[in-house]
Amino acid sequence: MTGAKPPLVGAGATISKRDLLKAGGALTLAMLTGTARRAFAQQQWDVIVVGGGTAGMPTAIFAAERGARVLVVEKAPILGGTLDRSTGQIAAAGSVFQKEKGIKDSPDAHYEDIMRINGNTSDPALCRMLVDNAADTINWLAAHGFRALPEHPIKGGGHEPFTTERYLWGDGGGKAIFATMEPLFNKAVEAGQITVLTSTAVVDLVKSPAGAVLGVVCEDYDGKRLDLRARSTVLTSGGCAANPTMYHELHGTQLWTDMAYPFSQGDGINLGLSAGGYVRGGEHYAGLFNIVLKDKLVPSQPEGTLRTSPGRGRPIMEVFVNSRGERFVREDHPSIDHREKAVVKQPGQRFWAIFDEPILQVSPTIMRAFSREQMVEAFNNHPMFSKAKSLSELGVRAGVHPAALEQSLASYNQAIKKGAPDPLGRQERPMTISKPPFYAIRAQSWTIVSFAGLAVDGQLRVIKENGAAIPSLYAAGEVIGGGATTGNAYTNGMFVTPALTFGRLLGSKILPLA
Ligand SMILES: Cc1cc2nc3c(=O)[nH]c(=O)nc-3n(C[C@H](O)[C@H](O)[C@H](O)COP(=O)(O)OP(=O)(O)OC[C@H]3O[C@@H](n4cnc5c(N)ncnc54)[C@H](O)[C@@H]3O)c2cc1C
Repeated sequence: MTGAKPPLVGAGATISKRDLLKAGGALTLAMLTGTARRAFAQQQWDVIVVGGGTAGMPTAIFAAERGARVLVVEKAPILGGTLDRSTGQIAAAGSVFQKEKGIKDSPDAHYEDIMRINGNTSDPALCRMLVDNAADTINWLAAHGFRALPEHPIKGGGHEPFTTERYLWGDGGGKAIFATMEPLFNKAVEAGQITVLTSTAVVDLVKSPAGAVLGVVCEDYDGKRLDLRARSTVLTSGGCAANPTMYHELHGTQLWTDMAYPFSQGDGINLGLSAGGYVRGGEHYAGLFNIVLKDKLVPSQPEGTLRTSPGRGRPIMEVFVNSRGERFVREDHPSIDHREKAVVKQPGQRFWAIFDEPILQVSPTIMRAFSREQMVEAFNNHPMFSKAKSLSELGVRAGVHPAALEQSLASYNQAIKKGAPDPLGRQERPMTISKPPFYAIRAQSWTIVSFAGLAVDGQLRVIKENGAAIPSLYAAGEVIGGGATTGNAYTNGMFVTPALTFGRLLGSKILPLA
């Protein structure tokens, strides 16, 4: 993920005392021995940033720009966090990319769109702070070389669209954002403003008897620990979408997929709790519409997604049923949010796409990125693909109530033959599903992000349940729970945009400096 400069030295590296002094920012805890270690521990940093990812990098860059002495402690051997895999979709009203295309927009309109999409479930103060400052974030990236794709901004892609074109991403997704921030970060490292400890985890907070956060306890891969002190500590260590146990505890739902950044273990959530903070937002959990898993053991790697978006060139030919054999949603409902919310309510948050031989033969494959030959092969050996001579046998094989499946398909076919309206209001019904063999593909609601996280106030201070701020402890990014900003929906760009923006605000304004 990181480029050539500066080398973020791996845990096994050794350095001389002279090199250590010169290294400035490229350290691991294991490299600090003897007097160097003692000297390091005696430093009083202005800011310790816990996690050098999407939110941590701008926090450090902007604090350093204000003259702060910043220490970034990063558990992974490299910086960037989830930006290595994130699609990096961001949104703002007033970006240079809108201006280039003459698109008129306002933070108020952005705010209203967000709240319309998620049914007023974003935290109003944080959402307001986001819309008022997001354009400066994108314009900052643009000033340092970031470019949106030529056709962007757009209204929407895979999520519920905005009413205005304000949604964009760069070539390479999250990597394009990282590539823009990395040189700025490195410059501050070279100038001695930022010091980085990689392969080093923050495992505890140093607290005063009165409960103020005085710094962090770090640990390297060999278990060596060191206490470090700072005026302010910022938790930017990401969410818990790689920790199935914590994910289930905080959201009350399984973590179906194994796709988040592996270091998204919820460490920062535990750190905040240890200082008296509390968690909110699990009730905002939202699932994406469909994924076909490789395996029935979860979390599982994904096999791929089904092409189920109406109006995208492939008519929806299949019927979707739950494990009870019932249709549960208008398959071609124009709102992706509506379809997503419907599948989350089904047993096991899953459904089966049911079709027959003529559909397999004539239709573009429903499985994105699968050829017809791969589809045929999958029906012979994939645990999520079932094939049978009759619908009742298909039900038995797939795990769908056989008689109810037969009944659902009979009603669907009958309405088509009679020219009667579909009971669920479906418009696209190109053909009946009646000629064996019959096919079922099991698809799953899924996510890659945490909605629950530490409660913060309008200054991004971690707060207790009584609303009191924990002195000197701040948080940004997914550790505050995506639900705070995205609400109960996948609101375009509402994870990466707030991570970058709140990090920037912490570094540039909010964190107190001497
Ligand atoms: C595949 C995928 C696609 C996505 N696409 C989008 C999108 O298009 N738009 C959008 O808005 N959102 C998207 N998201 C979500 C978004 O990318 C993340 O919410 C966001 O990047 C998280 O930023 P962060 O700074 O909170 O965490 P991260 O970027 O993950 O950074 C956290 C850092 O903290 C480090 N860390 C963890 N624990 C410790 C510890 N104890 N001590 C020290 N360091 C620690 C980690 O190693 C990591 O480097 C996507 C997520 C995924 C997985």
